Amino acid sequence: MTGAPIVDVETIVLRAEDRDGAGLDGSAETAIVRIVDEEGRNGIGEADAPAEVVRELVAMDDAHAWSRGLRSVLVGRDPFEIGRLHAELYEATIYHGRRGIGIHALSAVDVALHDLVGKQLGRPAYQLLGGARREAVTPYATAYAGPVAGRTIGEMMDAIGALVERALVLGFRAVKLEVLFEDLVSDRELVRCIREGRRLVGDDTVLMLDFGYRWRDWRDALWTLGRIEDCDVYFCEATLQHDDLDGHARLAGRVGTRVCGAEFAATVHECREWLERGRVDVLQPDVSRCGGLTELRRIAELAALHGVSVIPHGWKTGVTAAAQRHFQAATPNAPWIEMFHPALFESTLRRELTGPEPAVVAGTIPLPVEPGLGVTLDARAVERLSVAPGRP
Ligand code: MG
Repeated sequence: MTGAPIVDVETIVLRAEDRDGAGLDGSAETAIVRIVDEEGRNGIGEADAPAEVVRELVAMDDAHAWSRGLRSVLVGRDPFEIGRLHAELYEATIYHGRRGIGIHALSAVDVALHDLVGKQLGRPAYQLLGGARREAVTPYATAYAGPVAGRTIGEMMDAIGALVERALVLGFRAVKLEVLFEDLVSDRELVRCIREGRRLVGDDTVLMLDFGYRWRDWRDALWTLGRIEDCDVYFCEATLQHDDLDGHARLAGRVGTRVCGAEFAATVHECREWLERGRVDVLQPDVSRCGGLTELRRIAELAALHGVSVIPHGWKTGVTAAAQRHFQAATPNAPWIEMFHPALFESTLRRELTGPEPAVVAGTIPLPVEPGLGVTLDARAVERLSVAPGRP
């Protein structure tokens, strides 16, 4: 039955056994929020945030009207009223929420509601977002060779070359190179590495770059970006420090390449700052941090008014990957989504937690057809990797 009320909301905390707490892998742990309706159907979403804290934000007793547990607001409610619930949850957590982790937790709930309602209606989640605005999903592959940690630049570039080769065999037609080389290279040497990167991907592949917040002075970033303009780079990510909005504006106004921002942003309000003050060309909010599909769509609509694209960040499990596909399916100004592919980076949760994993063919993934998000949790992975509350 459509609109079958919510009877339970639970959070499953999962953690990879081999996680490196000092590494850069956002998929080392996750908080999956599962919303169950009266007829036993369930919807899932995840938060890209400290998982134990998300569990507490969902389960906590109400403190007062502006500091409530998410579960307490949701139980008994009609999941079909996604926009209303999103607004109520925002208000009900505004003391401790509003930005950051409160919004990250809300993101998981919002995606889970889209999954659940899609299942109630027997329709893919993107149809709840207004329907398809494109023929297929177009992911780009992120090629991250891991931390520098004692390696030479030659070894780093060899590792990136191997990843690029694999990405092209997997069917990608767009690749982002993570040129997170820190002090291993000077800016002048970095320019040479980027030229080598263009050679590695070939002329027919879209090339993106992630600099991992390399610069503190926009003029230093300009020096490098100005010297790679002939490499036909689609966008440059994480150039300056994340909160240096004025620096981003100066840089974006002076280079031909698209400058990105906002990968850590929560809500349309933060993204508005990135548009009006940061003046970036591409917003990169993450569906599992920015406020879910509801908020990501609001962000995309605002960005469209500024002539800006939204190319969401995504480095989590298959739940986030699926939510991104539905977002892109329904969003005209989302030319790409980041795809953290399990064959390009070793991640237990990315590989094992969800299925099925769609194939990339000639750079595209067909529009999803299954109800809701179209992915399910693997019961054995949940059993093995879930962490009970209160475990030290
Ligand atoms: Mg990145």
